[in-house]
Amino acid sequence: MELNADITDVKGVGPALAKKFAQLGIKTCHDLIDYYPRRYDDYSEVVSISQMQQGAVTIAAVIDSAKGRYVRRGLHITEAVARDATGSVKLTWFNQPYRAGALKIGSTYFISGQFDVHAGRPSIMNPSTELEQAFPVNTARIVPIYRETKGLTSLQIRKVLREIVPTIRTSPEELPQWIVDRYQLMHYADALEQLHFPASTEQLREARRRLSFQEVFELILASLLNKYEIEREPAPEITFDAAIAKEFVSSLPYELTNAQRATAWQIFQDMQRPHPMNRLVEGDVGSGKTVVAALAAHMAAKQGYTTALMAPTEILARQHAETLQEILRPLGRADEVGLLVGSLPKAAKERVHEALRDQRITLIVGTHALIQDAVAIEHLGLVVVDEQHRFGVEQRKELQRKSGLVPHVLSLTATPIPRSLALTLYGELDVSILDTKPPGRQPVVTKICSPNSRPQLYADIEPELRAGRQMFVVCPLIEDSSQLKATSVQAAYKEMSRAFPGYTVELLHGKMSAEDKQAVMQRFASGETTILVSTTVIEVGVDVPNASIMLLESAERFGLAQAHQLRGRVGRGGHKGYCYLMLSDSNPPSKRLRALETSNDGFRLAELDLELRGPGAIYGSMQHGAIDLRIASLGDTRLLAQAREAADAYIDSGEKLVHYKQLAERIARLRKVTNLN
Ligand code: ADP
Ligand code: MG
Repeated sequence: MELNADITDVKGVGPALAKKFAQLGIKTCHDLIDYYPRRYDDYSEVVSISQMQQGAVTIAAVIDSAKGRYVRRGLHITEAVARDATGSVKLTWFNQPYRAGALKIGSTYFISGQFDVHAGRPSIMNPSTELEQAFPVNTARIVPIYRETKGLTSLQIRKVLREIVPTIRTSPEELPQWIVDRYQLMHYADALEQLHFPASTEQLREARRRLSFQEVFELILASLLNKYEIEREPAPEITFDAAIAKEFVSSLPYELTNAQRATAWQIFQDMQRPHPMNRLVEGDVGSGKTVVAALAAHMAAKQGYTTALMAPTEILARQHAETLQEILRPLGRADEVGLLVGSLPKAAKERVHEALRDQRITLIVGTHALIQDAVAIEHLGLVVVDEQHRFGVEQRKELQRKSGLVPHVLSLTATPIPRSLALTLYGELDVSILDTKPPGRQPVVTKICSPNSRPQLYADIEPELRAGRQMFVVCPLIEDSSQLKATSVQAAYKEMSRAFPGYTVELLHGKMSAEDKQAVMQRFASGETTILVSTTVIEVGVDVPNASIMLLESAERFGLAQAHQLRGRVGRGGHKGYCYLMLSDSNPPSKRLRALETSNDGFRLAELDLELRGPGAIYGSMQHGAIDLRIASLGDTRLLAQAREAADAYIDSGEKLVHYKQLAERIARLRKVTNLN
């Protein structure tokens, strides 16, 4: 059978089953082979009945008897007795009335399932059975468990896969042979067969290593190819002018930190080249990224180029615009900052566009919508992307069509991504790290609280509010949910209104209209509202210097990186900051939360998140969701390093992807999604 044969061509797959497969996105044999197991049950060790321990077991035994009955309406039980040389055991199935008839009395079977005590009697529950044979599929081996759908079980999936084992074996090698050899990788076809039918734990491990390697290799290669493609494009040359930089720096009310200086220098070097910069600045909350971006924008403006700054939300765009105006005011350039957001009336937008055209505005701040509008900016020289707004090759090319040149791109992120991850995820970016904070900032006092300490907590908070400070209360959910115990914003809003009578409490969440959010945020920023109860929409960047308290409800549900970012919202205005981590229940706090209590170092916390929760935690807080690793673990730093090395070597080798058809196809697809910047 061909790899691209329709799944209905496989023996035993009729239209009904094919429909189920289609629900899982499986139409061809290749699709099925490419359907990786979610996990495995290890039934590989066959034991004698007398040796059985509670848990997953496999025996080889003769069926002595089997019969089924309804114990009551809707509950059918099949009971059988299996025997080997050492004893006998009961087998029990619920609601599988066909079982008794399917078993051959007197034949020897492999029987795999959970051995447990049920209603006082030991039994193997709902076991899989197969006549004893050389290539068992569902028993007596490491058995893969797949993502299932109603009417399509792992058992059935395995059965169909068993039919196409010869087809699996025809899968062509997809990686260059020299890479397979150099990194001692299992061959592709073998890896696929071992993934679905592992012969041993070791073979499975090797198979997974091979497929993980390939997955990461492809990701990095796609990234690097993008990088080299971008690097060939023409970009405006914005030359470094020491006088311009000096003018800017001396207009600031503070000195730049060494880290800010070093980063600015790297940016200037990039912008001088006739090819586009593609740089990511990673810096913890409060590390002072904005002023660095403003300096780059100033350098561009003085040479006739406009800068566009893109923020993830309208609130942030407005704040950025205000901050930038403040920074540029001493230079007499405050009026050159413009704002372009969705909620602006049409006429106002039109005025902004006009001002952009004749360069009365040279620094335009806005949200996603701005990307489209920015296309019209004739003199666009620099794009600053705050917080991982996606801005990839496609968008860049669009900008190019208008002006002939591709703008420089500077991305800013407060998510401190450990180096090992950054190299993989951001293969196409150059990374600058702002690892020192401006002096004089006190760390936020952080404290874990259990629900029964609420009265005391409120008593601690009240004097702060009375002294005029403000409080953020952040919840992980919008509405009450029956499954999750997490406190909703609605519930927290009620609780805060009750606990702090006489103070204004307001609610902010992502389902509100942009205008409503804006209005609520404005009232909080102006101090009209004392307590702001919100979802994580306030996560990044929002600046309310008078807010000194951050209360995280159901704190255990936040990622470390996310909680750390939220904490960075307070203690910004010279008032001492407090962060309270309120638990959902009185269970002892996790290691993660305790780390948050003791450490104020975002990079350290990100490393820990990676260690304890895996890359998903960091991914999650980056909110891009474009890359979905199926098998590789980004925590496997050795594998990442090898894949990176192989991708570099591949590019150096000058080999052409056209020689590797499957690889080339996947890389082409990946190149569209790996543009995280
Ligand atoms: P980030 O965006 O990295 O979280 P910001 O750019 O908002 O941080 O800066 C945080 C605060 O620190 C701002 O109020 C800014 O004015 C201030 N700041 C930035 N750089 C310095 C510095 N070198 N010295 C003192 N304060 C600084
Ligand atoms: Mg910022």
